[in-house]
Amino acid sequence: MTKQTIPNDKPLMCKIIDKKEECFETLTFELQLPIKVQGAKPGQFIMLWIPGEDEYPVGIAGLKESILEVGIARMGPGTEAMHKKEIGDIVGIRGFYGKPFTPPDGVNHLLIGGGFGMTPLKLLIETLLASDEKQVIHVFEGARSKERLMYLEWLEELTEQGKITFHVCTDDGSYGYQGFPTVALEKFLQEVNTPSVIYAAGPEKMMKFIFGIGKKYPKVIDMQMSLADRYMRCGFGACANCAVDPTGWRICVDGPIFNTEQLEKISDFGVYKRLDTGEKKRI
Ligand SMILES: Cc1cc2nc3c(=O)[nH]c(=O)nc-3n(C[C@H](O)[C@H](O)[C@H](O)COP(=O)(O)OP(=O)(O)OC[C@H]3O[C@@H](n4cnc5c(N)ncnc54)[C@H](O)[C@@H]3O)c2cc1C
Repeated sequence: MTKQTIPNDKPLMCKIIDKKEECFETLTFELQLPIKVQGAKPGQFIMLWIPGEDEYPVGIAGLKESILEVGIARMGPGTEAMHKKEIGDIVGIRGFYGKPFTPPDGVNHLLIGGGFGMTPLKLLIETLLASDEKQVIHVFEGARSKERLMYLEWLEELTEQGKITFHVCTDDGSYGYQGFPTVALEKFLQEVNTPSVIYAAGPEKMMKFIFGIGKKYPKVIDMQMSLADRYMRCGFGACANCAVDPTGWRICVDGPIFNTEQLEKISDFGVYKRLDTGEKKRI
């Protein structure tokens, strides 16, 4: 079977072939696609359609042959509807959409995330590990408590195998050090002398804070951040509901991954987002 792109005129219907609890209120699903599709790039997303319920953007956590992995955090009615789905049920997908992360060779890759932001970072880790070059990968993950840490077991396995360095923390000290992942990130940046790239995905306030840290260190040659903590409607640039000021960039087609130069220009970054009504609200 040759690899195809997903047709964009209608959702591609897929069967749920695996469902498991990943961490608190977050489930991972494996979807069997009816065709073998061309590789998704880390940071890109799909529009997930739950017939009769809702359609919303979801990051790509993995793609092997024709099996797509997603991680869904319970937020409101749409994600709740997916949580109720069982193995054998059918959902639709559109995509793959958006600009991906673009990791260069020869740098320290510093991945920092929280919540469902860990899903694109999972595919980024897999992509880096599959590269011909030996990559230096540090993962910084934080959550309120141990049961909210996503991909904990997998990240610890990779650590034991010497493939990544994992800096883990919780707000309540129930796992890893007590505090925020930015503490370990900054400590690392103070000690390292080689060029680094920061990749971040999670709550926008956290990313804005990380951006401020990264700016202090000239050895951080780029920061690539996923502005996925925003309301998005169509996913392909038609409705402009996800446009940011003052550039007018639409997160779905011009992002969701933006680099340092672009993030500097987005005055909305970490300050305002739009509600589903289009109205701006302070973050
Ligand atoms: C590119 C992208 C990738 C994503 N990837 C994932 C993923 O991998 N996994 C995942 O679980 N989710 C992901 N999301 C988020 C997911 O699409 C939303 O959380 C979705 O709206 C959930 O629908 P819902 O009906 O469950 O919740 P909703 O009812 O739509 O929203 C849940 C809560 O969030 C609030 N809210 C929603 N949008 C905004 C906003 N713009 N500003 C302030 N508050 C808001 C609502 O008021 C409500 O309280 C992604 C979003 C984007 C843009």
